[in-house]
Amino acid sequence: MLLISINVKAQNDSGVFYIADIEVNAGETYRGFLEVPAMQNDPGTVIPITIHNGSSPGPTLSLIAGIHGSEYSPILSMQKVSELIDPTELAGTLVIVHIANMPAFTGRTIYFGPQDRKNLNRSFPGDLEGTVTERVAHVLTTEIIDKSDYMLDIHSGDANESLRPSYSAYYAEAGGKEVIAESRRIAIAFGLETIVQFAGDYDSLDEAIYTSAQAVKRGVASMDVESGELGMIDDSYINPITNGVLNVMRELEMIAGEPYLPTNPLFINDRARIYSEHNGIWYADPLVKTGDYVSEGTALGVITDYHGNELETVRAPASGVLLILFGTPPVNEGDNIVVVGKVMN
Ligand SMILES: [Zn+2]
Repeated sequence: MLLISINVKAQNDSGVFYIADIEVNAGETYRGFLEVPAMQNDPGTVIPITIHNGSSPGPTLSLIAGIHGSEYSPILSMQKVSELIDPTELAGTLVIVHIANMPAFTGRTIYFGPQDRKNLNRSFPGDLEGTVTERVAHVLTTEIIDKSDYMLDIHSGDANESLRPSYSAYYAEAGGKEVIAESRRIAIAFGLETIVQFAGDYDSLDEAIYTSAQAVKRGVASMDVESGELGMIDDSYINPITNGVLNVMRELEMIAGEPYLPTNPLFINDRARIYSEHNGIWYADPLVKTGDYVSEGTALGVITDYHGNELETVRAPASGVLLILFGTPPVNEGDNIVVVGKVMN
């Protein structure tokens, strides 16, 4: 049973679905763009979207890829998902944001937009009067999140980050009981072997600066996905996203069938991070790979200055699964070089 009311946000009695000035009839597909308006001396941008509006009632599920524009496996998976869904056989509405952050995609930047140097995944709920990244966040909040019953924010390691294994994640403490239960439900239904539980809550919408944090605080069940790394476009990163989305749609009874689930997923309920204390050059230890279990204190790599003198040996901050490790040479003070997932006991 769905705990969250369905079809009240953006679909009228005859099944027409509305976003911005776009109308999609039941059983039809829309392919086009959301507009992010320009401001003086500051060009706007567009957000490419597909809307499959099902011929029968059901929840509205939104998929957001490309919050970080150089994370390619989510973006390529959305192309596949879009082709796989037939709106005449769909219950509810599937909204696909193919590339949330077009300035970062076309500008090929990591973390930050090229114009304003802001991180879209730290810019929610956004601001219609702000910089282009803040305006993108505002459009996503008002036109995508607020019209969804469920939202998936889909990432990979950024173009400089090695990331393994692929995992789903949800807020275990933010959003209230029903939203937490529904977020957990879809995070498990996605079907990956590793599930991360984000800790903590937010006192206000303005403090919920992450995409999925903003969504849960607005009452929308949400989860994150991480699958892929280092700007690569391998099927081993793309297919788990495509399959996971179909699994969630089966769980929500939007398409026929049962989700295919692993028998014994690994839950991670805390993450330990290392931030660089120096600017310099990063050498990851060749014996260490993301996805490995590491014990606290294991050497993971070395930072040198620009002439090769060693500045810092970076060691595992805790025992657990090495989820993220920098994979390219540039390192700046304050960069998050390492993330270790602590396994629940
Ligand atoms: Zn990302």
